[in-house]
Amino acid sequence: MSDFDELYQEIILDHYRRPRGAARLDEVPEGEIHENPTCGDSLKLKVEYGPDGRIARVLHESRGCAISVASASMLTGAVAGLVPAEALSLAGEVEAALRGEGDDPRGFLEGNGELAALAGVAAFPARVKCASLAWRALESALAPPPGTDRGS
Ligand code: ZN
Repeated sequence: MSDFDELYQEIILDHYRRPRGAARLDEVPEGEIHENPTCGDSLKLKVEYGPDGRIARVLHESRGCAISVASASMLTGAVAGLVPAEALSLAGEVEAALRGEGDDPRGFLEGNGELAALAGVAAFPARVKCASLAWRALESALAPPPGTDRGS
């Protein structure tokens, strides 16, 4: 294991032990729980907006492995202050990079602050779902429900 990998491991464990944005989200209905059955991870996620329409903060209630909880914790820092369209596009890019897709998936994650710690995940297909769970939950939280118009 290289020094870099050890550093990343420490960052992941730190987020796992002290997840940023962790909260009890009893108001989120059961139907909106996101699950990764292959690992047993489950997660609720809630986006709060500021008066300017930007994401003020993301709260999550995560149960699962270190990778899934750490990824949710890192997500809260990565998307705070973004407008929803920016957060959606970041989520798509992160998920692709986690799957090892794109020109330079590792470089992309390593250029995005602590998300760098997830750069090694692509090498472990079973872990990709763990790391992607929070980002998929974010996408569904940001997607307007059918029949509504968030254009205004
Ligand atoms: Zn997991």
